[in-house]
Amino acid sequence: MSTQYETSDPKPPSGSGSCLYDLLCSDTTPWERPSDAESTWFLRKEWRSFGARARLERMLEESGNRVCADCGSPDPKWVSLSLGVFICIKCSGVHRSLGSHISKVYSVKLDEWTDDQVDSLVNLGGNNVVNNKYEAALPDNLKKPGPDSSIEERSDFIRRKYQMLQFLEGHEETACCHQPQHPTSSLTLHITPNHHCSDKKVSEKHGKHRHKFRNSWVRNSDPQKMTKKINSLAGMVEFVGLIKVNVVKGTNLAVRDMVSSDPYVILALGQQSVKTRVIKNNLNPVWNESLMLSIPENVPPLKVFVYDKDTFKNDDFMGDAEIDIQPLLAAAKAYEKSEISESMQLRKWVADHDNHLIKDGVITLTDGKVKQEISCSLQHVERGMLEIELECVLLTQ
Ligand SMILES: [Zn+2]
Repeated sequence: MSTQYETSDPKPPSGSGSCLYDLLCSDTTPWERPSDAESTWFLRKEWRSFGARARLERMLEESGNRVCADCGSPDPKWVSLSLGVFICIKCSGVHRSLGSHISKVYSVKLDEWTDDQVDSLVNLGGNNVVNNKYEAALPDNLKKPGPDSSIEERSDFIRRKYQMLQFLEGHEETACCHQPQHPTSSLTLHITPNHHCSDKKVSEKHGKHRHKFRNSWVRNSDPQKMTKKINSLAGMVEFVGLIKVNVVKGTNLAVRDMVSSDPYVILALGQQSVKTRVIKNNLNPVWNESLMLSIPENVPPLKVFVYDKDTFKNDDFMGDAEIDIQPLLAAAKAYEKSEISESMQLRKWVADHDNHLIKDGVITLTDGKVKQEISCSLQHVERGMLEIELECVLLTQ
């Protein structure tokens, strides 16, 4: 986090720090990327010395950031780091469904923040600045979603705003090609389709990303097609909470290349999926990578797939597992308002032959967090085990 800056940078002179901090944070004076000027570097050091989380919290206090950039719900706890907006949990589900090439969603509370991430967020200017850009040409007759809007309305608006870029200055004409996806939605655009524009303009905006994205599909492979397909549907679902999955490690995984494999893990929950990085040439990979998924209302099982990354052919399957997250969610609901501070065991998923657990999946309450450790054998494969840790965060938190 911020410690490297706190220790390597000189402390701000006493008395001046807080004024400067306020100045740098104020709505009217957004902090700008420093130039080479010595004085600006001094400001940057001053600013950074407050630490990433403190700066992030301070940003949340700015007037435009106190409500969700997309639906106006108060007290947003999520951030699209790539777009630079603070958003509510419901809109965050839609953002996640756009794919991380468009919106990279982080939690203010649950994710670790680095100074560089906060810098890039600050540089984007916050909700007001970003909305001024992405809603510059918002038609007068189009009503933005509100806190109580349906998931369809949110999904429709957010996709048109950030994916199709329909409301960017000078992009009114692109609207004719992109009628609302959901006929039941109350969001309608009354623009006469008097000519047919191509998707080119829209594509150009995300051109760089789309190019990368497309290339990755070309040499691709079923698992990634699956990821794309299910993410495209995820924006339509109502969520009850979040599951934070720490993919810890794999043990004795299957060999898919000459003598080893390049494993990675895909997590799928309902219609969303996320994946870990690839660890090259390792049958006992340690990912220790935290990934987050929204829990849909109907609470589907968490599906875990391990694949071997291949450059020139389809990725190879290395086993899967299915985890029932209902008990974890039930425990999180039961202990939501608990003030118990010491760690305690709440319930456990007893290991047996049918569920393929290697040891009992114990659900614990630790520091107010409801967690479960899962250690299981991978299925539909000759060998391999996987360890993951789950944490459930309810929508109300
Ligand atoms: Zn929202």
